[in-house]
Amino acid sequence: MLEGTVPVPHEFADRYRSEGLWTGRTLADLARPQSRMDGTRTAVVTARGRMSYRELDERADRLAAGLAGIGLRAADRVVVALPNRPEFLVTCLALFRLGVIPVLALPSDRRAELAYLCEHTDAAALVVPDVHQRFDHRALAREVRAEVPALRHVLVAGEPDGLTGLDELERQAGTARPEVPDPAPSDVALLLLSGGTSGRPKLIPRTHDDYALQGRAAAAVMGFDERGVYLAALPAAHNAALGCPGVLGALQLGARVVLASSPSPDEVFPLLYGEGVTLTTLMPAHLALWTDAVPLLTARAEGLVAEVGGAMLDPAAARKAEEALGLTVSRWFGISEGVLCCTRPGDPADVRLETDGRPICPADETRIVDGQGDDVPDGAEGELLLRGPYTLRGYYRAPEQNAVSFTADGFFRTGDVVRRTAGGNIVVCGRIKDVINRGGEKVAAEEVERHVRTHPAVAEASAVAVPDRSLGEKTCVFVTAADGLDPPTLRELRLHLAERGCADHKLPDHLRVVAELPRTSIGKVDKKRLRGEFTGTVPAGGTHAAG
Ligand code: AMP
Repeated sequence: MLEGTVPVPHEFADRYRSEGLWTGRTLADLARPQSRMDGTRTAVVTARGRMSYRELDERADRLAAGLAGIGLRAADRVVVALPNRPEFLVTCLALFRLGVIPVLALPSDRRAELAYLCEHTDAAALVVPDVHQRFDHRALAREVRAEVPALRHVLVAGEPDGLTGLDELERQAGTARPEVPDPAPSDVALLLLSGGTSGRPKLIPRTHDDYALQGRAAAAVMGFDERGVYLAALPAAHNAALGCPGVLGALQLGARVVLASSPSPDEVFPLLYGEGVTLTTLMPAHLALWTDAVPLLTARAEGLVAEVGGAMLDPAAARKAEEALGLTVSRWFGISEGVLCCTRPGDPADVRLETDGRPICPADETRIVDGQGDDVPDGAEGELLLRGPYTLRGYYRAPEQNAVSFTADGFFRTGDVVRRTAGGNIVVCGRIKDVINRGGEKVAAEEVERHVRTHPAVAEASAVAVPDRSLGEKTCVFVTAADGLDPPTLRELRLHLAERGCADHKLPDHLRVVAELPRTSIGKVDKKRLRGEFTGTVPAGGTHAAG
């Protein structure tokens, strides 16, 4: 077992196996059966070309041999920060086959995030693209290596510019296959990034058994099979487009994966039509973007199901999208830690558009509890707790966090407030965790505050979610100025965070300078009041906008 992880107790593991939920199939096996039986079948499509199942299988083997050649061994960790390119899939498969664990960073992550991930996981290698969306990731990777001397390799998808290219590793391996046994099904297959509530991102260990089950179960409830075409318009490195059923679920079934570099209608609409996409995953902000771009659509997307979730979706916006685009919206509630709830495409419209659905697997356990940990009746709001065959039992190397994130009997505390309808579907009502859900990208308030406080002219800082028309929520930072200094402007503060290496979506969108931060009776910063001051629903106590 990987050190720093918490195993599923034996009695649960035995049950999941005997019920046929954990089948013993590993992600190392992806693409192999199709390659043997029907190798010319298309596995991956991008705007630049297509790759068959045989090519995907053989390239994964060659890269695995190349990676073994530079010394990567089972249970090593490799931080992968690749966008939606075929190399993302080839790299993941190659690592799975070696039993090496990909740590799935996002292409928007920058020095602060990547250096932390490399350090925290003692990563043996970092994999980046050459240039993506006009940003040179090789220069970024060099900075990360300077900051993390223990990082042994920086590998580049595309033009390596003096670093090691993935292509070169594949070429050197020739027709070699890695001479290592497949990983065990109960081994950790990958580490996902948590939506995060703490100052540092937390990592979610997912095993081969559990992640394969999630992909299969999600596909089954969505009616997605080997004839389906899955479009990854969100980053494939995120659980939503990776395994719900996402690209890995689609490959498990032998279906076709279409990779788009973003959900932008310009890029995606021609693919929808040209490739006959049957399923995709979107955040609510993207659905609105698609609805506004309907004149660009060549034909109504009648055969398409869009799973929409990750943030609150207004049912009226969902109805408008269905009417304008012709697609079917299925709302979902997902969390990278485990249990996925979704509505089914065949559900009545009021269920699909007004609830966030129900678990995808019969062994998933959900509880909705009050502040004392007691179950609330249907219709009442409470915190959602989760346990089941693909839900984590502990974050990686995080014993203190684990002590507060789980109940004594192993339920994960989501920090999300939901209610259950009489029909058994959940509806997300809010949250008790300190996160800003910026168009589906989760920003931990504590992480932003930690960076803002390092500005020399800032004494105290508090980050809160404030409403935004297009993204749903944005980040507003309230600060007090350090003694005798002028507070920074918003522009200066954003620059300061960017220089510290923070990803763009973590930079504050709004800044308010206050004489002091309001406190609750127990001395905690009163974030509810700060939000009220922003929206004008409580009188501003000496606040003024800056920058
Ligand atoms: P992540 O692990 O990045 O997918 O983030 C999971 C979090 O996204 C959840 O804990 C929720 O806070 C939020 N989330 C997911 N689905 C929904 C939804 N349908 N409505 C509101 N928030 C959601």
